[in-house]
Amino acid sequence: MGNNYKGINTICTHVGELEDKQFKGAVSPLYMSSSYAFQDVDIKRYPRYFNTPNQEALCVKIAALEHAESALIFGSGMAAVSTAVLAFLKAGDHVVLQRELYGGTYNLINEEFDRFGIEYSFVDGLDAKDFETKIKETTKVIYIETPSNPLLSIVDIAAIGKVAKKHGIISIIDNTFASPVNQNPIDFGIDVVIHSATKYMGGHSDICAGAVASSKENIARIFHLGKNLGGSLSDYTVWLLERSLKTMGIRVKAQNENAMKMAKYLDSHKDIKKVYYPGLPSHNGHELAKSQMRGFGGMLSFEIKEGFDAEKFQKELNLIKPSMSLAGVESTMLSPAQTSHSLLGKKERQKQGIAENLIRFSVGIEETEDLIEDINNALNKVRK
Ligand SMILES: *Cc1c(COP(=O)(O)O)cnc(C)c1O
Repeated sequence: MGNNYKGINTICTHVGELEDKQFKGAVSPLYMSSSYAFQDVDIKRYPRYFNTPNQEALCVKIAALEHAESALIFGSGMAAVSTAVLAFLKAGDHVVLQRELYGGTYNLINEEFDRFGIEYSFVDGLDAKDFETKIKETTKVIYIETPSNPLLSIVDIAAIGKVAKKHGIISIIDNTFASPVNQNPIDFGIDVVIHSATKYMGGHSDICAGAVASSKENIARIFHLGKNLGGSLSDYTVWLLERSLKTMGIRVKAQNENAMKMAKYLDSHKDIKKVYYPGLPSHNGHELAKSQMRGFGGMLSFEIKEGFDAEKFQKELNLIKPSMSLAGVESTMLSPAQTSHSLLGKKERQKQGIAENLIRFSVGIEETEDLIEDINNALNKVRK
């Protein structure tokens, strides 16, 4: 389990791999046992304890990818989010969160926290100062997501890390949109990094998983709640995720390049009103993104000009699939107002700056010429 490799693709391909001592196979053997002998060994292995051979091995890779001491993997991104956040909170505590959050995370807070007596404040601005003013005596956690969904807003990770340290609270980031290829928040002073591994880590739209990376001490705390909540990941999916991670570096780099090309193209398109992509100098988080990201990611959003029906536009696409999920090697689009952010209601969407005809574009690895042709064909069909 050599852990000293520096290059992202070497880490992706090799760190944490299990040796096939029996047959000398090239890839990690898959151990599906849910039952392990406990006599004469110092570890009681069980899938829900996050310590089967494949689970432990994959966590070594994920910790290395996020420059963390330790990591845990979960049955979904939301299992990772809920376990990591709740591990640091109890009744009477308070948490400060960015308002622009993944819909599922927003719902977890909004629909469940009152019941448990956990107080929360959503922050409307993106400045660390906006977050700091919400901190109270009882605040235990500060939670951010950058780039955020769906407007790709950028929050200053180092500044949030500083605010958290100053007030002695835990800082948590959802790093899903960036992936560890483009951003390592622990290097900027963040305590806990979360991923929906369903997205870039999985990358092929065929598995559901989550990951958390942090210090040994924090991971021990998250593990303690995690084994009680029971959100562990099945070993077969662990094995698939290891396979997926081998190509994450090259996949995400290809997606970065494609997204930049598509953002530039859409930005100059006469039918497109506005493009949100941190790689464009016109994006209000561009300078900040440059300072904390190695690449700008594969996600972008755009508003089609008035007079176009965003729903019809999506129906006319052939190559690009309408899809709720994101980050696969195949390009997908969705309308946040109709899908991921429909439960928010029009008023809350307006508050968050999400236009009704905004389209979120998860750029895949296809040739951009083909993507451009697909978009143009669809626009031509819905132009009035
Ligand atoms: C998808 C997603 C999640 C939730 O992950 P699941 O695997 O669907 O549970 C959390 N955060 C972000 C940013 C996501 O995109």
